[in-house]
Amino acid sequence: MSSSEFSIIEEFFTFRSDKGYCPILGIGDDCAVLDVPSDKQLAVSTDTLVENVHFLPGSDPELLGHKVLAVNLSDLAAMGATPAWASLAITLPAIDKAWLSSFTKGFFALAKEHSLQLIGGDTTRGPLSITITIMGLLPKQQRLTRSGAKLGDSVYVSGSIGRAGLGLKKAQLDISDIADKDLSAYLKPCPQVALGKELLSVATSCIDISDGLSADLSHILKASGVGARVWDEQLPVAASVRRYMEELGDNLWPYSSGDDYELCFTMPEQVSAHSQDKLLAYGVTKIGVIEEEKGLKIETKSGELLTLDKGYDHFDA
Ligand code: ADP
Ligand code: MG
Repeated sequence: MSSSEFSIIEEFFTFRSDKGYCPILGIGDDCAVLDVPSDKQLAVSTDTLVENVHFLPGSDPELLGHKVLAVNLSDLAAMGATPAWASLAITLPAIDKAWLSSFTKGFFALAKEHSLQLIGGDTTRGPLSITITIMGLLPKQQRLTRSGAKLGDSVYVSGSIGRAGLGLKKAQLDISDIADKDLSAYLKPCPQVALGKELLSVATSCIDISDGLSADLSHILKASGVGARVWDEQLPVAASVRRYMEELGDNLWPYSSGDDYELCFTMPEQVSAHSQDKLLAYGVTKIGVIEEEKGLKIETKSGELLTLDKGYDHFDA
């Protein structure tokens, strides 16, 4: 490693915080060393964002720093894990200090919110790409998975579906008003970490919605060996998204639009009123029920049943 690389790491990526789980050894050696508390287990996930694939060229670096961490935190949320550590591999076309300063501002603001420690990474030159490996902690024997949905469970989602998808359309049209709620859902997603932790003791399955509700709920259904019926009328969809669907003439658009980073989960009907109230405070909506017959069916207002299972597929032709 050259001294300029090291000074870049020193200047931009070294962030010390006493909050959260301090590593035994952090940035600066060949490896970080971590101590997992004896009553906890480790949840690990990696996500990459590539320019032109996952974000538009020339994206605001501060928002990008937020988003790359948010999509990784969203995976921990889907498991019910508490964020602890992250490693950041970044490939940069050039050393642009103003860009790095904004990027790390967005990244560390969100890291701080979740008491997350950056414990290492890699810095290389090439087309802009960012990979984070995130680590969280779970109480021993507990985790939310995709495979536990049971017959008769209710299906829920958090937040509003399709908003980030519409935000992407707006970003592609060069609309840059971050006060626009659709645009901010796309550019500055809010990972549902607190909700995920709340769900740990009550949900039977959970996934975060990154590739579209129909694709991600279908992952739960396949892993659990069940099917589901979703009542279209119950789907939480913002007025702006409804207007967009009318323009498109596509009533099912929100089911396949990606990037929401909300949670989709299943829960038995018999959950205590106390737990139900707590969850409602997170803005969750019951949208359907788990059934025996495999596949995902959407029941329209008029009672018609439609079959859906596709979302965004990175390798689709
Ligand atoms: P090596 O040559 O042994 O791979 P590096 O030069 O890649 O070491 O990194 C030196 C130290 O800086 C390591 O502790 C590494 O984890 C850390 N590091 C490198 N890049 C980043 C980054 N982008 N963010 C955080 N830590 C980083
Ligand atoms: Mg290295």
